[in-house]
Amino acid sequence: MPLTISTLSKTYPSGLKALDELSLEIGSGMFGLLGPNGAGKSTLMRILATLQQPDAGASLHFEGIDLLKSPTEVRKILGYLPQEFGVYPGLTAEGLLDYLAQLKGIRQRADRTRRVGEVLEMTKLYEHRKKQVSRFSGGMKQRFGIAQLLLNNPRLIIVDEPTAGLDPAERNRFLHLLRELSASRTILFSTHIVEDVRDLCTDMAILHGGRVRLHEGPERAVAHMEGRIWTLSFLPSDLEAYKALYQPLSVHYHADQWLSMRVYAPEKPAEGFVPAPPQLEDVYFRVLAES
Ligand code: ADP
Repeated sequence: MPLTISTLSKTYPSGLKALDELSLEIGSGMFGLLGPNGAGKSTLMRILATLQQPDAGASLHFEGIDLLKSPTEVRKILGYLPQEFGVYPGLTAEGLLDYLAQLKGIRQRADRTRRVGEVLEMTKLYEHRKKQVSRFSGGMKQRFGIAQLLLNNPRLIIVDEPTAGLDPAERNRFLHLLRELSASRTILFSTHIVEDVRDLCTDMAILHGGRVRLHEGPERAVAHMEGRIWTLSFLPSDLEAYKALYQPLSVHYHADQWLSMRVYAPEKPAEGFVPAPPQLEDVYFRVLAES
């Protein structure tokens, strides 16, 4: 496995344990890290990006490199896009990338110009290269974030909640870009949006309370719930009683005043329930409910 994480814990000075002996093996391609706010996703990503130190006892390796012992080696092959990527006002995309390429050690001007052109092409920003990054749309800023991390041609890419705040068209375009890049790299990508993982990832883990609660490909995880998801339509006045009775995974509101619930059960829970095809959201809510 390209990326191996074992017994990784992180305790913040407040005493809060954000990661609790987490172990995970991540292959090449797109790996989705799914979990609610506070699950520990960002902490895990910052540690992998060598920006934070874990508690003693962890071991982290990527393609034979020890991430804890050789942070400088890791940074050469790593691309990281944090949740908040600040941009410098007043610089064009091309100008800012040239500056960042200098910081990344690309000394020769001709090499920089070539590489900056390449990453602008890869992220479909070439035609916007003369525009100020501060005036980019949300989706373009996120693609710019990918362009900057591609400068050193990383083999491991870590992106923290990159689709938050993007409109559906921007989100699709961004996810498509990540998918293209994942053909020859390991991309670890965190989100609390279940569809991001369903549409994109070959493998995933669900995190909650600093632990891995499920590690399975999204398609397989959904297939395992086949025949166990049931729906029932009911009136709002029955909501509290039905919640107590059936512990639904989710409740949905419909325009015609009726509500429906999705329930996990090996067999039909009661009269009126109809079988439904399982969805990744059912997997997610069930895992969270169990943990
Ligand atoms: P996620 O990315 O899944 O939302 P985080 O890694 O940001 O999760 O947070 C995990 C837990 O650690 C949360 O309870 C959060 O409040 C806490 N936490 C995160 N960063 C810090 C910090 N710098 N200092 C103290 N606690 C933190």
